[in-house]
Amino acid sequence: MHYIVFDLEWNQGKLGKKDRHHEQIPFEIIEIGAVKLDENKALVDRFQELIKPKVYRDMPQIIERMLHVNMKQLSQCRPFVQVCDDFLEWCGDDAVFCTWGNQDLLELQRNMQYFKMKPLEKGPFSYLDVQKLFSIDCEDGKSRRNLEYAIDFLRIEKKEEFHRASADAYYTAKVFEQLDKDVEQYCSYDVFTLPETKEQEIHKIFPGYSKYISRSFPDKASAMADKEVSSMRCYICDKNVHKKVRWFTPTGRFFIGVSQCPVHGYVKHKVRLRNHALYPSGSDCVYVDKTQKLIDEQKLAVILEKRDKVLEAQKKYQPVKRKKKQPKDQPKDQ
Ligand SMILES: [Zn+2]
Repeated sequence: MHYIVFDLEWNQGKLGKKDRHHEQIPFEIIEIGAVKLDENKALVDRFQELIKPKVYRDMPQIIERMLHVNMKQLSQCRPFVQVCDDFLEWCGDDAVFCTWGNQDLLELQRNMQYFKMKPLEKGPFSYLDVQKLFSIDCEDGKSRRNLEYAIDFLRIEKKEEFHRASADAYYTAKVFEQLDKDVEQYCSYDVFTLPETKEQEIHKIFPGYSKYISRSFPDKASAMADKEVSSMRCYICDKNVHKKVRWFTPTGRFFIGVSQCPVHGYVKHKVRLRNHALYPSGSDCVYVDKTQKLIDEQKLAVILEKRDKVLEAQKKYQPVKRKKKQPKDQPKDQ
């Protein structure tokens, strides 16, 4: 197994000049930089190549200055498909991708899709988001710092200038090297390609919570009607347990429910419905990202308060039913 720590630089053309390509390929990759590490995180090899752009023929000056590269230089380079093919071959079949944040894998695949390359994988795959792992290992697990902050925090020597794919990949690898091996269990899932069948769906138990990534559904209603999505089983013992708080939605973007397991206590269930475009067809669909977490009495009280507010608001906006008028000459009930 090899860790492939990679970073991309991309260009989105001059701002304000959005055209029909922009939706399919908002960021055109102009450089791939990567570091290959062995299982013990020792450096094995490096990869770096600039790419000749095909979609955006101009670049904002600020990007030129930041990357120290201009369009004339890029025009001498090889096109994306050739560079990406070589990069993927260099990665090998046993690669675990590592990136700073979650955007690089998305943009890599969006570019691959635009240039009609084969999908990276046939379904979701796990990768390591070093930005997240740094937060779990060194901070509160929620913060998301920039790469230079992590380099300073870990007192890593700054040998190369930031904001070049090759240097940023190198620095990301340096941060990754210093993290506790244990944090690697907190992997992330790339969902550019969704599970096609129920069997391919992701069910993963992390320390303290679990994650479920569904296959695609045509719309939100059919997603919420799915048994697996709407169930509130205890993720630890997998038993169908008592529903304490039925599904409600504070914002319309996600749903929350709580169940009570006699053995493990309160389990909070959160369902996020996400819009998605199927790969390679590009047709619209919805998938579910569901997390389940053990909570205490205090957190339950906060959820109950939120739920009551939602119910209160629903009551307010419900049309008031008019009372039937009683005939005038009949006495009212006493
Ligand atoms: Zn349980």
